[in-house]
Amino acid sequence: MKESKKLGINTTCVHVGEVKDEQFKGAVSPMYMATSYAFDNVDVKRYPRYFNTPNQEALCRKIAALEHTEDGLIFSSGMAAISTAMLAFLKKGDHVVIQQVIYGGTYNFVATEFEKYGIEYSYTESDKIEDFLPLLKENTKVLYIETPSNPLLGITDIKAISALAKEKGIITMIDNTFASPINQNPADFGIDVVIHSATKYMGGHSDISAGAIAASKEHIELIWKTGINLGGNLSDFTVWMLERSLKTLNLRVKEQTRNAQIMAEYLENNPNIDRVYYPGLKSHPQHELAKSQMKGFGAMMSFELREGIDAMKFQNALELIKPSMSLAGLESTTVSPAQTTHALLSEEERLSRGIRDGLIRFSVGIEEAEDLIADIEQAIRATIRS
Ligand SMILES: *Cc1c(COP(=O)(O)O)cnc(C)c1O
Repeated sequence: MKESKKLGINTTCVHVGEVKDEQFKGAVSPMYMATSYAFDNVDVKRYPRYFNTPNQEALCRKIAALEHTEDGLIFSSGMAAISTAMLAFLKKGDHVVIQQVIYGGTYNFVATEFEKYGIEYSYTESDKIEDFLPLLKENTKVLYIETPSNPLLGITDIKAISALAKEKGIITMIDNTFASPINQNPADFGIDVVIHSATKYMGGHSDISAGAIAASKEHIELIWKTGINLGGNLSDFTVWMLERSLKTLNLRVKEQTRNAQIMAEYLENNPNIDRVYYPGLKSHPQHELAKSQMKGFGAMMSFELREGIDAMKFQNALELIKPSMSLAGLESTTVSPAQTTHALLSEEERLSRGIRDGLIRFSVGIEEAEDLIADIEQAIRATIRS
């Protein structure tokens, strides 16, 4: 399986990074739960926190194949992957430029930890490339982006960012969670470190907490050195579960992406919806940019309910689609940022970020689009009546 890049995507999902069952010839990878391995060879000291148990090593090959990189690492959560990657490359006195709109947990990590380590950081004003350049300093070591971003599905120009960084010898990192490796492979555009919350699309069934990093051998080695100190490895049982989930990654995400396009077009034509944010719509301001760097537009979107339709009442009236803080499972879910994730901000701050009271973030699952449409129709009717 050395030439994994040449295999088709479903073949990669199913077969790359399997643990061969030489003993019994079982159809799936045996699960190695041992935390102790005899050291018959001084070079290989297998231990879960060294990220080198048989199941971990095998799954890392699948992650690397999916993201078109030389190597990969898997972690106990998306935040374990993000924090380990950042701390591996940054030291006291270094500076990092971070895109303004990023996952809340990442924002919180930077805001609460970096000062303790003496790491400087600047946030951009927007996701436009022009806003990154003036923030770069002599000591800038890392440039960190997330695209599509949450919750308004902004698109950052991956190729321009990596060109800018390469010219100045800066490491680039991307949170690729929203797109998944099926819809976007940032390493193809020169990004150094590709990070996923595998709790989302990679896991896909809302029952796994995990993180993943894909990068060159050299960069993975560096992240590994910090990783064994921070100890954010994934338990081998969950590694096995994640391998199983990834076998259907392409089937799930393709279907979710197809559904999302149908839902976005339906919502855009619904008089009770004021606005839809989805990179697959021609009305999205960065539709062309998204087209140039994404293989599919993903299954995350946001929409604004017409004024007078209450976001909480609407979500409570949904019968199939579940309100949920998390995302990217097989099942469709919604969350209203103004009342939940962004509730602590003042209304003015929320509006300055484009988050209106009627905004609904929609994670589209694999259910038939016609059933999702019927559910939204009945929920709008019920909310208007109440
Ligand atoms: C959920 C999420 C994370 C954090 O992942 P955890 O697995 O919850 O630690 C990071 N980035 C994005 C975009 C996410 O959606």
